[in-house]
Amino acid sequence: MTPGIIVLAATLGASALVTSALVGAVLWALRRRGAPTPVPGFATRVYGAVPTSPEVYGRLLEEFVGEWDKRFGGGDEVRRAIDRLSIHHIRDLKHRGETVWGVTLSPSTVYVNTGAPRPLRVIQHELLHVATWVTSGRDATDHGAWTPEQRRFLGELTKWGE
Ligand SMILES: [Zn+2]
Repeated sequence: MTPGIIVLAATLGASALVTSALVGAVLWALRRRGAPTPVPGFATRVYGAVPTSPEVYGRLLEEFVGEWDKRFGGGDEVRRAIDRLSIHHIRDLKHRGETVWGVTLSPSTVYVNTGAPRPLRVIQHELLHVATWVTSGRDATDHGAWTPEQRRFLGELTKWGE
């Protein structure tokens, strides 16, 4: 290798480092400002201290939609609902005075407790509330609204991060 090439390689290496440091700083600043974390493949707005990488988050959402469509049909409707969804990851989540791991307030608003032992399972659980809500057209915050098939579907999804 000639000295010129060595210098070029060193410069490229340094600029890649600077670029990734800049990207990291921008993402950090966005999170500090409360901007959502972008999730690949979805328009879902994910706020707060996300318990996994955006890539795994996207795969979790993708699997949910794909498996739902295979078993029950209507995957497009569920995908649209997830695209419209805001998922807030917050500490010490309380609902009606009680600590909860997650809560679905409406088909477009979900809260997840970052202190939950299995936060990714909580997300899947809340997505089932969203999916049953949008496909049934009525409030599905009650677990009694779920069919045995829907419960089985939830149990058979990938247990990400476990
Ligand atoms: Zn629930």
